[in-house]
Amino acid sequence: MIDLRELYQEVIIDHNRNPRNFYAMKDATATVQGHNPLCGDKLTVYLKLVDESVSEVSFVGRGCAISQASASLMTEVMRGKTLAEAHALFKRFHCMLTDEQTSPIGEEKLKVLAGVKAYPARVKCATLAWHTLESALNKEAAIVSTE
Ligand code: ZN
Repeated sequence: MIDLRELYQEVIIDHNRNPRNFYAMKDATATVQGHNPLCGDKLTVYLKLVDESVSEVSFVGRGCAISQASASLMTEVMRGKTLAEAHALFKRFHCMLTDEQTSPIGEEKLKVLAGVKAYPARVKCATLAWHTLESALNKEAAIVSTE
């Protein structure tokens, strides 16, 4: 089992116990559910896009410490990003956890999750919220493109 002591334990445990932006958003522009059957993590990500920028991201759900902490950190770093920046950050985060050669993540806070890469079974836990948000961003983009 994963050893949180090697993974910036305090930050991850803090975000797991006190997840940021943990609420169901009433006026979300996109809502997407994510499920990681390997671990049992389930969450719902709420996105509010205003003028092609991420105005607000929140989530609710249950899962392991890694999935909850990653979702919590994501809601913090995504706020204020443009659609292009949000997509680019998703790609860099995904690369940080799966690729041998990674470009700098560009968000100091997210480095606490870099160690998850050493535990392949947990990569899906850490990326669940991100895949879910990416899907929400694409859903919104599809609506925008038809206008
Ligand atoms: Zn998990």
